[in-house]
Amino acid sequence: MAASTDPRVLVINSGSSSLKFQLLAPADGTVEATGIVERVGQGQGNAAIEAGERESSFEGPVPDHKEAMKIVERLFGEVGLSLSDDRIRAVGHRVVQGGARYSNPVLIDEQVRWDIHDLGKLAPLHNYAAVDGIDGAQALLPDVPHVAVFDTAFFTALPEAAANYALNREIAKQYRVRRYGAHGTSHQFVSQAVSSHLASQGRDVSDLRQVVMHLGNGASASAVRGGEAVETSMGLTPLEGLVMGTRTGDIDPTIYIHLHRQAGFGPEEIDDILNKRSGMMGMCGMNDFRDITAAVEAGDEAATLAMDVYVHRLRKYLGSYSFVLGSLDVIAFTAGIGENVPMVREKLLTGLERFGIELDLEANAARSKEMRVISTPESEVTVMIVPTDEELSIARQASEVARQLAG
Ligand code: AMP
Repeated sequence: MAASTDPRVLVINSGSSSLKFQLLAPADGTVEATGIVERVGQGQGNAAIEAGERESSFEGPVPDHKEAMKIVERLFGEVGLSLSDDRIRAVGHRVVQGGARYSNPVLIDEQVRWDIHDLGKLAPLHNYAAVDGIDGAQALLPDVPHVAVFDTAFFTALPEAAANYALNREIAKQYRVRRYGAHGTSHQFVSQAVSSHLASQGRDVSDLRQVVMHLGNGASASAVRGGEAVETSMGLTPLEGLVMGTRTGDIDPTIYIHLHRQAGFGPEEIDDILNKRSGMMGMCGMNDFRDITAAVEAGDEAATLAMDVYVHRLRKYLGSYSFVLGSLDVIAFTAGIGENVPMVREKLLTGLERFGIELDLEANAARSKEMRVISTPESEVTVMIVPTDEELSIARQASEVARQLAG
């Protein structure tokens, strides 16, 4: 437990229609307060905060993310905390799209704020919300460094062969079309945790080859070699790659044109179909894996097919990333599904013994919140579950930028 005088970082995660926040100690990860404002810009909103034993909530209109920050301030007051607390040494803002430029967390000045806004052309649902969240938070905490931590940063060094689409070169350049990836904070946090864990057991990790599977409602895979990302499944936007809660992942892009020509759907409608009405939800009417696994066990046909499509896609990525890496040392699972759904891991990894992967079925089925190995001692590839903690990672990165600034 951190002493109450230890520095704190406020982490702000502005999503398209939500704003999540957490006040925590970067040193040991102690969370002092956590909460969310939901349905931002959608008429009637709601918000809640939890701070140890104390809780509070709000219901009412939340027109934008600036206003959401004022509600956060109010909720803090209601649980006996204050945003003018001088223990708050930095604010870390999660920013989804940092383009090819931002490979590290940065102090937010006018130029950075302008760039985040400009990069909204690539991530309109997220970056404009992030700018509003930044403006709102800076108005409330004007004397504290605000740091942007980019979801794309870990992937800015992807090899050019992985980052480029085989699209017309001029068009790609003019419209900044390339593979930027997402979930980078999580992939970096997890791959570093794996390396540290294995290094502490005396293993040489200088060239460690990992496939990280971040399987949450949004899902992505990455290939990491010696700590550097060399491939990732999300592309220009988070749509590409794995099957997700409500997103298709990889599809033939001409399906878009087909739907336009045949059904007369416009861009907004197609965007909505591909991002919000497809994936597991679109295939079987459910996107919570607690419901999906129960339905599979009960023999539900749509859920079984959806699960098969989900796992098949994972296998394709695992196989291709192993070849991109040249060999494989570690498979690491993280996020809601990666950490909590044994059925997915078992279906994915059963029958891959010839490739050096031997899952320990008992360890795979055990429940735990800890980082752990779930492969057999004989398995050449180490299979691990590594709980991700994006807020802690953002808090640590923001705190480090603030420390250098104070320097
Ligand atoms: P995330 O986006 O990482 O928060 O993951 C959210 C998803 O993880 C949910 O939609 C569920 O499908 C899944 N999930 C979370 N907890 C569990 C659990 N205990 N059992 C099964 N699935 C879970």
